[in-house]
Amino acid sequence: MAEREASGLQVLLHTLQSSCDRESVLTILRVLADLLSVGTDRRIHYLISKGGSEALLRTLVDTARTDPPDYEVLLPLFRLLAKVGLRDKTIGQKALELEALDVTLILARKSLSHSQRLLHCLWALRVFAARVTTGAMLGINGAMELLLKVIPPYTHRHSRTIRAATEVLAMLLRSKSNSRRAVNQGYVTSLLRLHQDWHSHDAAAACVPIRRGLLLCLRNVTTIRSGREAFLAAGGMELLFSHAQDDDLETDVDKLTAKPGLDRPEEELLQYEAMCPELSCGFEELESQSGGDLNSGCANHQHIPAAASPKPLRVGQDQGSQERAGEDTIQASLLRMVKTAGARSRPATTLHPAGRANGLGTASPGNESPGIQAPLEEDARGLGAVSCPRLSAFLCTAARCGDTAAELEELLKSRPTHVAFHDPHLFMAKAKRTRSVVDFEMLAFPDLWGHRPPPSAQSMLERKCGIQRIKILEDIRRLIQPSDVLNKVVFSLDEPGLLQDTDSNSLRFFSKFESGNLRKAIQVRECEYDLLINADLSSSQHQQWFYFQVSGMRAATQYRFSIVNCEKPNSQFNYGMQPTLYSMKEALLGRPSWVRAGSEVCYYRNHYVRHVAGAGGARGRCYYTLTFSITFPHGEDVCYVAYHYPYTYTALMTHLDLLERSVDRRQVYFRREVLCHTLGGNPCPLVTITAMPASNSPDHLEQFRHRPYQVITARVHPGESNASWVMKGALEFLVSGAPAARLLREAFIFKIIPMLNPDGVVSGNHRCSLSGEDLNRQWLSPTAQRQPTVYHAKGLLLYLSSIGRRPVVFCDFHGHSQKKNVFLYGCSIKETLWQAACTVGTAHLSEDVSYRILPKILAKLAPAFTMSSCSFLVEKSRASTARVVVWREMGVSRSYTMESSYCGCNQGPYQGLQFGTSELEEMGAMFCLGLLILEFKSTSCHHQLLARAAAVLNTEDGALDFHLQRCSTGSSTAELEDEPPCAEEVEYSVGSGADPDASFAELDRQIQACAFDADEGAQAEQEDAEWRRKGIP
Ligand SMILES: [Zn+2]
Repeated sequence: MAEREASGLQVLLHTLQSSCDRESVLTILRVLADLLSVGTDRRIHYLISKGGSEALLRTLVDTARTDPPDYEVLLPLFRLLAKVGLRDKTIGQKALELEALDVTLILARKSLSHSQRLLHCLWALRVFAARVTTGAMLGINGAMELLLKVIPPYTHRHSRTIRAATEVLAMLLRSKSNSRRAVNQGYVTSLLRLHQDWHSHDAAAACVPIRRGLLLCLRNVTTIRSGREAFLAAGGMELLFSHAQDDDLETDVDKLTAKPGLDRPEEELLQYEAMCPELSCGFEELESQSGGDLNSGCANHQHIPAAASPKPLRVGQDQGSQERAGEDTIQASLLRMVKTAGARSRPATTLHPAGRANGLGTASPGNESPGIQAPLEEDARGLGAVSCPRLSAFLCTAARCGDTAAELEELLKSRPTHVAFHDPHLFMAKAKRTRSVVDFEMLAFPDLWGHRPPPSAQSMLERKCGIQRIKILEDIRRLIQPSDVLNKVVFSLDEPGLLQDTDSNSLRFFSKFESGNLRKAIQVRECEYDLLINADLSSSQHQQWFYFQVSGMRAATQYRFSIVNCEKPNSQFNYGMQPTLYSMKEALLGRPSWVRAGSEVCYYRNHYVRHVAGAGGARGRCYYTLTFSITFPHGEDVCYVAYHYPYTYTALMTHLDLLERSVDRRQVYFRREVLCHTLGGNPCPLVTITAMPASNSPDHLEQFRHRPYQVITARVHPGESNASWVMKGALEFLVSGAPAARLLREAFIFKIIPMLNPDGVVSGNHRCSLSGEDLNRQWLSPTAQRQPTVYHAKGLLLYLSSIGRRPVVFCDFHGHSQKKNVFLYGCSIKETLWQAACTVGTAHLSEDVSYRILPKILAKLAPAFTMSSCSFLVEKSRASTARVVVWREMGVSRSYTMESSYCGCNQGPYQGLQFGTSELEEMGAMFCLGLLILEFKSTSCHHQLLARAAAVLNTEDGALDFHLQRCSTGSSTAELEDEPPCAEEVEYSVGSGADPDASFAELDRQIQACAFDADEGAQAEQEDAEWRRKGIP
């Protein structure tokens, strides 16, 4: 075989050099490329030993001398040369002797305006210049001048060519004579300037290889003494030092201080007047305020129509005295919640007294009386069976499955759920209106039935020593001992025909419901399943969120689940966090709760790697496995497992309806508008909350209309369901009867957009909208067509700003997957410049430090909040986030992102606990309370309000005093590490980077990729796009 190949190869090489026929040459080049694209380096070394390099170089020289040069031959030839040259240590010498060096340099010069041709020449020059003397020769012939012409100041075009030029230049500068020439020509300063420019413009860190190439040039030139002197004289040390401080900080003072112009015609802002009816409302009805609908008097607004509820609601019933009694309970308990924030058990969980009336709720796990057990199993099985194929076709047509609805009705009658601010009937009605691009076949039971937080927060999971090692060895054992490996696909969205075998021992999976996103389940061993989750719609990435149904489990059996296509390089799952679980049987036993569950939880990089073809350009990305084991609380149950406590769009719409019905309309002004419709056709709600004016006297109306605004948004990232729970807490607090809430309503008008990305939430996305975009990177220039919710949220803020009513505070609620606790990101020019060690032109800058007051208040007020993770830096990569845009364009100095951990706290009263929904809801309430205290502390505080506030705060048990005391004494928030060191060494490095040989492999890869792609222009485009995309962190 080897012999035949050898003779064949020699014939090919001979023909290549002697043939004048273009077609033959092209064919031979193609054959050689094929030959070398597979197998090991040995083939290339064999080719070299048979004179392959010389043959290629001679062909190059011959082809280049034709006029005009035939680039159809030259380009594949250059690719082969680069590939062979990487392994031929003497290629530089050979190129010099055969005059290929000059020829290539001339071709490069001629190709200055042809990016692709130039790129190929540069690849060849790079391998030639690997030999220092050849590099020196290139220097003498003016190669450095040429390369500096190719490396422009920052641009997002031709990044591959520019990168190659920096790499060739770095190669050349390994020669001392070239370095001396560079110093003499003043190139050190040019290189520093270029680096400065690329560094400061490359906000998204998309051009790191170019910046690295430039740094490499500087490093090589400073190996000679005159190079070091030139470097120091040009201020290189200071410059690079300041760059290294923080790569991502905005240091352009103009950008930090200048207010950009309006992103749309000014007339367009007028449409938002309709979303602020409170500014024009006449309240004529106030005089006859006996139960009339006060809201109906205002024109200029669209109501989101409330679905008719078939049953009387449990919260805020419409009958007079009963209502007030119930309401008082709510108010009292909310106040208690505020006051006893430090305590771990929160009465918020028992908002509604009826919630405790359920006798079943007293049963404890494993202690069910047999009498209950039997029918219960039936219920669970019945609903479970119904769930999969039949039940919740509710979404499609309720009429068609009337029997199923009746079944559920029956169940609800016998086991009322009593979850505060939840109503299954209303939920069902709302679900019918939720639009999805994905077909749903059912409603997830937890969303329908409701969730009541367990009585106390759960501790973080202690990590077993060596667990990751054990899990990885288990994975490897599949290959070594395949005897017990089943590898049976038991669920797959891609194979709709795949029937779930209800009789087998396999678990059954399902995910065709709102926010569900399981794509495939593979039974690996008897009790072990690999799961694949969907990428975000219109995107090939962002797998992290998961939500699926699992049934058919056996009692007292431990199952291992591994989600094998996660994308983030690390996770709180390695630091005490558990996934969440909801059991239908538990719910029917009166414990309708999402709980943290799972043992042996760990998160590690696996052996799967994305391939070129399927990755849409994102090559070589690696995947991570989240693995956990669950012993389900009951056999034959229907359970749901999720990344974090789900909170769907339908849940929000239900919640808003119930909130609206719960308010005392004589006191609370509560309005819902449609901010806009999403791309998927879902209305995005905008909520306004303030106090009704005391009367319709001009004074009262005046005060009403002039209350300052507070704007809160949430859930732009659909996977961050924690943000929705925080929002839920804030909303419930704001409409409550707690004295602090009353004061807040009297002091402010709250404009709230609780879900900025409904479509993403509905589809089970983690990060993006339907168009595959991260909406929190679109605030600079959103469009009504592509990012309607961001466009109109920004429009509303611009409108408020244009009428002189910009909000006191803007805050966007998020979830954080890497850190613990709750914290704020704000914006400060001074802190940013200081952190970046950039002091140029900052002397005249003045900035008040009011942005720090709210986080300081929250640190003392809210048990989950910590000041130590707060940051007030303006990063270039965040230039298009809500926080930075609202700060810069609307001039809101207190513009924040509030991040809540998915995991829990490592400080304060909740130290060592994972967040439950109550802790998150409490955080929402505390945030609002913080706004009130902020107002007390500000000078503008209304005197009358202050007096009343003092009265409120001095009430009975002095619990609030306790908080205020915390405020004034200042509990010491010790600087805490975000993460304790992981018990095990976890290997997370992605493998590209420091290793200099890696760049060789990288060049090889680029050549290969280019050779595969016939349409090279498109390839360059694609790469550019990829770089831009990669920039999104
Ligand atoms: Zn987020």
